[in-house]
Amino acid sequence: MRITRENPARPREIVGSVPITPPDAVDSIVRESDRRFREWSAWPLPDRLAKLSEAADGLDTERSELAVLLARETGKPIADCRGEISFAATYLRWICRRAATVYRDIRIDDTQGRLTLAARPYGVVTAITPWNAPIILSLLKVGPALAAGNTVILKPSPLAPLTVTRVAELFPVTTVVHGGADLVHALVAHPLVGKVAFTGGEVAGRSIAAAAGQAITPVVLELGGNDPAVFLDDFALTPDDYDRLVLASFATAGQVCMAAKRLYVPHRRAEEFTEAYLEAAQRILTVGDPLDEAVTLGPVVTRDAADRVTALIADARARGGRILPLADVPESSGYFVAPILALDLPDSAPLVSTEQFGPAVPLLTYRDEFEALSRANDSELGLAASVWSADESRAFAFAAHIEAGFTFVNTHNRTGMSLRAPFGGIKSSGYGREYAEEGLREYCRTSVIHSPAAFRPGGPGMPAGAYPTATATGGDN
Ligand code: NAD
Repeated sequence: MRITRENPARPREIVGSVPITPPDAVDSIVRESDRRFREWSAWPLPDRLAKLSEAADGLDTERSELAVLLARETGKPIADCRGEISFAATYLRWICRRAATVYRDIRIDDTQGRLTLAARPYGVVTAITPWNAPIILSLLKVGPALAAGNTVILKPSPLAPLTVTRVAELFPVTTVVHGGADLVHALVAHPLVGKVAFTGGEVAGRSIAAAAGQAITPVVLELGGNDPAVFLDDFALTPDDYDRLVLASFATAGQVCMAAKRLYVPHRRAEEFTEAYLEAAQRILTVGDPLDEAVTLGPVVTRDAADRVTALIADARARGGRILPLADVPESSGYFVAPILALDLPDSAPLVSTEQFGPAVPLLTYRDEFEALSRANDSELGLAASVWSADESRAFAFAAHIEAGFTFVNTHNRTGMSLRAPFGGIKSSGYGREYAEEGLREYCRTSVIHSPAAFRPGGPGMPAGAYPTATATGGDN
């Protein structure tokens, strides 16, 4: 049995296929990964990092070819695909520079005793990833997991299995498996899996967290978002800023976890904003085949996704929303959805209240900042957000009250990312972090070795009450 993937821009074109891993093969795959873990974790850190550095070089060398495959299986514009692969290589090199600050033992030997805080890997890490940025989202797990001394079993999305499989060949002790929910659940329940790292939607996230709870296995959950972008009344956007804002919503045809998904604009400036936004869309959005270098907006990933987003737009229209087209779509059998901006919608419209994950964005107007803040925060999700203002300090003050794991100022989406800034959600957008030192720390845990000075020859011995006293601990607790 195989998973076959078609090109979403030309559905009759089969891009490739991969073998399905039967769930009953999971036990032997995990045991083999656990056996290799014992060897790999004994490698010195610099040797493990050397392998990551080689993989980064491999990504650079194979970038053009990998990008074409990625564009054909996901429908993402070719320039985006090249960008994702280069960014993944940059991230691996960042790990090589920073890993030693996190994956190290801390040793203390003083009047209170001798203490080792050992950074230990979890063992076999299972990584489950989505289709929309499959390379970087896989390597955000594989990279730090391997650096810390874990081995990895990687389960990519059936909607983008091909490029990830090729990329994984660049990495040691990384096994790729293919399948759906049954395979994932067999992996998560396996007693030799030490940690699960998941990026994807909320439904899958909840079921994985429940299964991991049963197995008492820790999980990182990077789930969806319904990101608000709030424009304070002094916002001052140049045409370039509007271009960037349009891309913040429409890159990857709106199928990005941290896309700007709800725009909150002051009522008195809505007309001016809309006009400039439409002009930017005209400049920036070119819909068509992702392999065409001029194209910035490709199809959505599947026929189902196209139908779902089209239904959200129809619902918005039925609720009295004004639907403004942003670009023409060429005649095609592909899964294209014409990009739109929706005005005059109530907050209860599903295009506003749910993660649309497609090229359709609501513009909502507000009268005062308190109202803007409470409507922006009125979501179960809390992944990212943005605040736009001519006064950076004012934006930071407003951002302090936004319920999101990451708030951008005067930009949104990937243009606002930084390798030194941890990324991840709050509320139902998940827990755990990727990027930065926090993202590295997810792949090791602290084991302690401790000999209290109290029991050294000549030491005071057992304290009264058997708890360490201030004297026995040097006054530290
Ligand atoms: P998805 O949840 O459908 O699939 C993600 C992975 O989970 C795939 O490998 C899939 O095979 C597996 N899966 C699906 N259903 C499952 C189930 N019931 N049990 C176990 N495993 C299951 O997500 P998708 O459509 O590939 O990606 C889109 C979602 O991912 C969006 O909600 C998006 O916001 C989110 N996302 C989040 C981030 C982040 O960093 N927070 C990044 C990218 C995407």
